[in-house]
Amino acid sequence: MLQDLEYGRLENEYRIVEPTAEAKVVCANGNKLLVKRAADDTLTLPTYQEVMAWAEVNQWEHWYEKKVQYVFRMQGEDYFIWMGEAGESGDPEYGYEAAVSLRQMVSKNVCYAMMTAWHLFDWYRSNRFCGRCGAKTQHDAKERMMRCPECNNMIFPKIAPSVIVGVTHGDKLLLSKYANRSYTRYGMIAGFTEIGETVEETVAREVMEEVGLKVKNIRYYKTQPWGVTGGLLLGYYCDLDGEDETITLDREELAMAEWFPRNDLPAHDDGISLTREMIRVFEEGKEPK
Ligand SMILES: [Zn+2]
Repeated sequence: MLQDLEYGRLENEYRIVEPTAEAKVVCANGNKLLVKRAADDTLTLPTYQEVMAWAEVNQWEHWYEKKVQYVFRMQGEDYFIWMGEAGESGDPEYGYEAAVSLRQMVSKNVCYAMMTAWHLFDWYRSNRFCGRCGAKTQHDAKERMMRCPECNNMIFPKIAPSVIVGVTHGDKLLLSKYANRSYTRYGMIAGFTEIGETVEETVAREVMEEVGLKVKNIRYYKTQPWGVTGGLLLGYYCDLDGEDETITLDREELAMAEWFPRNDLPAHDDGISLTREMIRVFEEGKEPK
């Protein structure tokens, strides 16, 4: 999966770090990120030195006096984000690309870093002002938290739990496709956890809502951080309760849903997404029973 790095790890502990000239800076505008894409699809992020020069010339917006914010360290490199909606670079090699379209095999580590940095960027930009009293917030000195100097409101990063569900019936797995979305490949039942419910209840509710099926034996598989949607995906398998496989489709959510036999699944592991890994694990008969 995207977060499974070949070496090292994403060190997300908050630290006070000053950028070096060569430090990577993730620059975002809306849901797009500034990146250099080589002919072989390899991605490169701009350095602090480059970003500061572009920002000066093109007068990029910045919300605070401190223009870049340290976010994490990955594989020996410090990553920062530009604290504002970034502008044009003026360098034709760099362009803005949608965060969601960056999920790919090439530069998996860069994609993971960018998605995670964008998650934080999106949280910072949504919390420049205190939601309680309206005053301008400040970054806490010791931890990753925005603090209101007026009412002392403490605002921590927001992570939304959601489920990916592999519904099985003997040697069959239920796959589906979303309605009205740019993503048209096979997926599985998914949805955000609502306030007041357990994740297992989310699994049962989402399956009932989207395909009208009752499930049992709900069992946990793995999680995946998914910064593009500000989420944490929790993968579960479950079994159809009973023998009736009849699907009642929620047409607002799904374009189709269908049972596929274990030896004839139409989707394969892409090394990126939890959904794809779960399909492969089922194909191999290795899902938790
Ligand atoms: Zn306040």
